[in-house]
Amino acid sequence: MSIHINLELTDHCNIKCKMCSQSMRKDAHGGPKKFMDWDTWRTSLHGLAGLEEDVHLCPHWLGEPTIHPEFDKFVEYAFGINIGNRLFREFKVHTNGVVLGEDRARLLLRLANAKGQLEDTFRFMHFSLDAHSREVYKDVKGADRGPLVRRNIERFIQLRREMRLEWPKVTLGFVVQPGNAHEASDFIDHWQPLLRDPALCWDWPTQVRDAIYFRPLNTGNQAASDALHAETCRSAGLEVPEGDRIRSAESF
Ligand code: SF4
Repeated sequence: MSIHINLELTDHCNIKCKMCSQSMRKDAHGGPKKFMDWDTWRTSLHGLAGLEEDVHLCPHWLGEPTIHPEFDKFVEYAFGINIGNRLFREFKVHTNGVVLGEDRARLLLRLANAKGQLEDTFRFMHFSLDAHSREVYKDVKGADRGPLVRRNIERFIQLRREMRLEWPKVTLGFVVQPGNAHEASDFIDHWQPLLRDPALCWDWPTQVRDAIYFRPLNTGNQAASDALHAETCRSAGLEVPEGDRIRSAESF
């Protein structure tokens, strides 16, 4: 048995994706947005000790975790006290990749491949990208950060390759919508050769490997959004099931 635990480092974000309700609200949880304090993080982590279930830990729910002013310190501490996986069995980061300089990339790669834990503990870096070109990134993500994000992710992948490291796996997400659907093939063409034998997915990735995945936008007209998603995946050459709605049963 396993349980998924999200310790949300912050509900602030540094960009404004047009499909993200979090980015449209002043408050995400019915109060002012915040950054988690050190005592809450430390106490929460130690509180995981002794749970019977395998804990799958993610320092994110809403917001962008890497903009926490002490993100590096928090994550390094978590791995430092997780010797023998006594607190968590798996770990993953969801990020937009805007704040991922070389020092942070090296830190995360070091923690993911550190001794004293099962080798697949730090499973994934999930990057939310949703665009190929600078113009479409700016439109969909509400910020002119496309080139920076591309450099950051490419450097992370390159460092992993140069250091011959297995973990974490890298996945790149693309929420299909009218403004970016035409870039799906370019997105694959750019990233597929850089990743390590990535799966091409029409829903959440389900395998423990690099992946490029396309998801439908949740909208008021879900049938049209699902149809655009299915057609975009087919046009990009993905092997998809029949029909206009190709989400898996577990998807939301
Ligand atoms: S990066 Fe994530 S939290 Fe921030 S606006 Fe985009 S989807 Fe929302």
